[in-house]
Amino acid sequence: MKFSIIKWIKWIKIIYKKIKKETTIYVDERGYERYGGYDNRLIHRDIAYNYIYKKGYRNGVYTKRFRDYDIHHKDGNKRNNSINNLQILTREEHEEIHNKQRR
Ligand SMILES: [Zn+2]
Repeated sequence: MKFSIIKWIKWIKIIYKKIKKETTIYVDERGYERYGGYDNRLIHRDIAYNYIYKKGYRNGVYTKRFRDYDIHHKDGNKRNNSINNLQILTREEHEEIHNKQRR
């Protein structure tokens, strides 16, 4: 049997995909839903990135890198991750919204 690094990489990729598929969702200590298991990405950021940011970036709506933006839950429910409840804002815009709500 010949040792092949390419074969190993293929196997790792298959296993990684399997783990990813099997991950569950949990709510973190701040009240946000995250993917459990292998990686703990925030679900609202994942959805905002794939369904809002990518298109907006192509159209020039967003000029910064995704990680420089905040994601706002319009209805205040951190677990409502539907596309139309999420809004991509700069940190300043986001702070402004929450400061207004507090007043
Ligand atoms: Zn917010």
